[in-house]
Amino acid sequence: MASLNDIRSTFIDYFAGQGHQAVDSSPLVPRNDPTLLFTNAGMVQFKNVFTGVEKRDYSRAVTSQKCVRAGGKHNDLDNVGYTARHHTFFEMLGNFSFGDYFKEQAIAFAWELVTKEFALDASRLLVTVHKSDEEAAVLWRKVAGLSDDRIIRIDNDDNWWRMGDTGPNGPCTEIFYDHGDHIWGGPPGSAEEDGDRFIEIWNLVFMQFEAMADGTTKPLPKPSVDTGMGLERIGALLQGKHDNYDTDLMRDLIEASANASNVDADGPQNIHHRVIADHLRSTSFLIADGVMPSNEGRGYVLRRIMRRAMRHAHLLGTQDPLMHRLVPALVRQMGGHFPELGRAQALITETLQTEETRFRSTLERGLRLLDDELDRLQDGATLPGETAFKLYDTYGFPLDLTQDALREKGRAVDIAGFDSAMAEQKAKARAAWSGSGEAADESVWFDLADKHGSTEFLGYDTETAEGEV
Ligand code: ATP
Ligand code: MG
Ligand code: MG
Ligand code: MG
Repeated sequence: MASLNDIRSTFIDYFAGQGHQAVDSSPLVPRNDPTLLFTNAGMVQFKNVFTGVEKRDYSRAVTSQKCVRAGGKHNDLDNVGYTARHHTFFEMLGNFSFGDYFKEQAIAFAWELVTKEFALDASRLLVTVHKSDEEAAVLWRKVAGLSDDRIIRIDNDDNWWRMGDTGPNGPCTEIFYDHGDHIWGGPPGSAEEDGDRFIEIWNLVFMQFEAMADGTTKPLPKPSVDTGMGLERIGALLQGKHDNYDTDLMRDLIEASANASNVDADGPQNIHHRVIADHLRSTSFLIADGVMPSNEGRGYVLRRIMRRAMRHAHLLGTQDPLMHRLVPALVRQMGGHFPELGRAQALITETLQTEETRFRSTLERGLRLLDDELDRLQDGATLPGETAFKLYDTYGFPLDLTQDALREKGRAVDIAGFDSAMAEQKAKARAAWSGSGEAADESVWFDLADKHGSTEFLGYDTETAEGEV
């Protein structure tokens, strides 16, 4: 059986053999893009090449790009543990044409790789095209011999890619695999499309137009191609699995979690192992790329992912911190292709251990408070925002951690209440600082500083402030 490491190599070798330059993954913190939280697609490192601002000495490239989708528009944090196909950290395999080949060649490469090299059953495949892109539909019939009922026309922005309000944009075409009607879900464009029966494996973007600042659009003189295929998704298919978490690599991490916690990998606690395995990857790779847990910006997103994992570790009943004990398994699996992981191993281990030790001192009390509060509430009632805020403020529970805990119980948080409790506290802190209002008494500030460790936890709202690719 081909491992994920083998499959990554097959992809890169295939496109290298077709004249593509093999380029290393760029770091998770985008080098030249302060508006983007984390690298979330293969094209991020090539943005300036696509716009023509930067020139390279190749016009075709292939990568396996580290991606994190745990904030901003592409936020898959809430999907982890629940869908078969989402991670917060994943590798996006991609081939790129910078003004070189276009639709026909891109479709031909994709079809050949998937049906010949990877030998997927072609009768299980279907594709989407944008409704306006008849050219792509014609090519799918010509190149792949797909019948019309397996070419789904999508009429919304899901199949229209744009870099931003201005700049390159164009239609997408996506390849889906049908896992069969024993799994819930419907074809793309249907009401059940979010199910896991039809899984999107590959997304091809045709950069064909340029949106100008004056609101007009013109065709690009040299159109380009940008594609992305999840390594874990194609890996699941090639290993005869439905679920990304059953691939060799993810399975190894899940077993490491099962061994370290002494809790069966496949029992009812399986969801905790899945979340832990996923979050181990995103947190470790973020630390290896220089992000450290903190209370604002990228560091706070890292802390949120870590603490979420740590609650799941706690639910496994482990007495001692767990996450740092899984780092050797991760380095064994992924350190070969990503040497930065081995270089940062000591830092990752220490950071995870320190953070988990620290969080455990408030986690258990916070969870007890949450349980007590839920006992008091009527069935199905939402958790008052004030309680969620207290958990955040006093016990260090990021809001999404509380939401994750409530989701298991079919409950939700009053978000507006949480926001107003937050706003009230910030106003108090400001009044104390400025020395102007009735709360100018210095002791108010020291109270707050005591509680928060000076600026602790005041950075929450920065996590939604980033822009979009
Ligand atoms: P989905 O609709 O399943 O959420 P997407 O359309 O958001 O996927 P794209 O932005 O098109 O995904 O990314 C390109 C490819 O990367 C997808 O076709 C898929 O194979 C993979 N991918 C996207 N998000 C994830 C994720 N969270 N975990 C694993 N693989 C992913
Ligand atoms: Mg998505
Ligand atoms: Mg999609
Ligand atoms: Mg897509």
